[in-house]
Amino acid sequence: MMIGSIQAQSTAPEMKPEMTEFYEPVPAIVMPGKAATNAFITAPSDAIVLFDGKDLSKWKDKDGGAAQWDVKNGAFTVKKGTGDISTVQEFNDFQLHIEWSAPANITGSGQARGNSGIFLQGIYEVQVLDNYNNKTYVNGQAGSIYKQTAPLKNPLRSPGDWNVYDIIYTAPRFKEDSTLFSPARVTVLINGVLVQNNTTITGNTPYTGLPKYQFHGKGPIKLQDHGDPSEPLSFRNIWIRQL
Ligand code: MG
Repeated sequence: MMIGSIQAQSTAPEMKPEMTEFYEPVPAIVMPGKAATNAFITAPSDAIVLFDGKDLSKWKDKDGGAAQWDVKNGAFTVKKGTGDISTVQEFNDFQLHIEWSAPANITGSGQARGNSGIFLQGIYEVQVLDNYNNKTYVNGQAGSIYKQTAPLKNPLRSPGDWNVYDIIYTAPRFKEDSTLFSPARVTVLINGVLVQNNTTITGNTPYTGLPKYQFHGKGPIKLQDHGDPSEPLSFRNIWIRQL
């Protein structure tokens, strides 16, 4: 009788994107309240205005040069292929207000339909996605902490209309030896509906693999040029209050 050799087990299975995607429970759809007009409320007096409808002077492109996205009609639109843009200024704890809209003629499905993202301190992604009548893994839908925590509800407005995100963020704290002292926490409202309630962020938000923390200081707000083939999203009325 042959005795087979016992192979040493490899340390961990190779991670695949679908290993960190889950589909249930699906957040309930909530109809958000309606603005009487398409107007928005401007920034409060102590906020830093990151986009006032005129130019991208507060933003830079992925190489540190001028942001290339298109400014038009008081909003700016992702210019596909030019890469993510980030604020010039960096932040610790903050309250961020940002509005986005998918074009009325948007096509595509799942993650390939109006995908962008708001990276807190340039690292932790709050997902932006046209999830109006568009299914995907729940921890990748609009208002999720990407590949971590699904939103509590789905209060998105339909393409062509504006969605309002309000994000209250507490940065992670690190010890003197650069290891984690306390994780980041985040509260998110979409269109006035709570979707993340002081949620613990368990680390960075990669497409493949598990979240990890790595020491960092202040960081920018970064917006994602996702690269999916659907028609690009627009953003407007962006301001931040440092906490
Ligand atoms: Mg995204």
